[in-house]
Amino acid sequence: MLFSYHTHCDFCDGKASAPVMAQAAFDKGYSFLGFSSHAPLPFPAKGALPWASMAAYASAIRSLQAAWAPRGMTILLGLEIDSLGDSAPSGSTVTWPGYPGYSSIEPDFRIGSVHYVQFDGSERFTVDQPATAFAQNVRRCAHGDADLVWKAYFRNLCSMIVHGGFDIIGHFDLVRKNNDGERWFDENSAAYRSAAFQAAELAAEKDLVVEINAGGLLRGKTEAIYPSLTLLKQMHEKKIRITFGDDAHAPQHLGPGQRLAADMAKAAGYKSVWFLDGNLQWQELGIEGAGVAGVAPCPLKIKLD
Ligand SMILES: [Zn+2]
Ligand SMILES: [Zn+2]
Repeated sequence: MLFSYHTHCDFCDGKASAPVMAQAAFDKGYSFLGFSSHAPLPFPAKGALPWASMAAYASAIRSLQAAWAPRGMTILLGLEIDSLGDSAPSGSTVTWPGYPGYSSIEPDFRIGSVHYVQFDGSERFTVDQPATAFAQNVRRCAHGDADLVWKAYFRNLCSMIVHGGFDIIGHFDLVRKNNDGERWFDENSAAYRSAAFQAAELAAEKDLVVEINAGGLLRGKTEAIYPSLTLLKQMHEKKIRITFGDDAHAPQHLGPGQRLAADMAKAAGYKSVWFLDGNLQWQELGIEGAGVAGVAPCPLKIKLD
């Protein structure tokens, strides 16, 4: 079965409209497709949905949901919400995925994600940016010390997990995006592992679902899949449930990540993955049925009468 709860479209920084993304998913055999536009932020942010577009976004996705349900594909309305942690503007209440303002569109699910970090007196920046901009920011904002970046990233992630208000943790260790070949920091250092494992421990305590996200890889931005295999093995030990998030920004990003994600899950020891069904209930799927089109979707949708 193919499913993903991480889909961008042209309401935020996606390259295609929501109907085009939905059609592409259907053509590839998806059973569940969750749209997750970048939620509005308390500062101007390129690629985020403006507050003024929230209602139009919700109505566009709800129309698609109604149109595709009879054809057997469940579309869900979601948001990818930033947790700003240390990088929140002072006095801002729009800081956590649980911020009530996001409830206005009654999303079916929320992804909680960390993108931004900030250091005393410097500008806030996203770790999800191209290599050159990232390098400039490490120099300018972190005084060249990239260890500060992952420390701030995981600090924000831990705060997000503690505060809650979301269903899925997005790209758990996105801070690795610009670290191919361990260019900036050592992901095997005791300190890095301890910070990442601490966040995983918290996620396990809160029984949160973590996505396997190959979006950066499919867009040619990184070799990394999130979470790393080391971290995913730790998550398996801690019995953390996992789901799939393609982080698709264009139709061609739908499909190829599913097999990769299933292979990663297997390699980490997982025997099953979880998908959010049309009744917004998490359902377990045996790993052999994950990443393969054509496997029967949600059992709850089968009517016996
Ligand atoms: Zn993201
Ligand atoms: Zn995303």
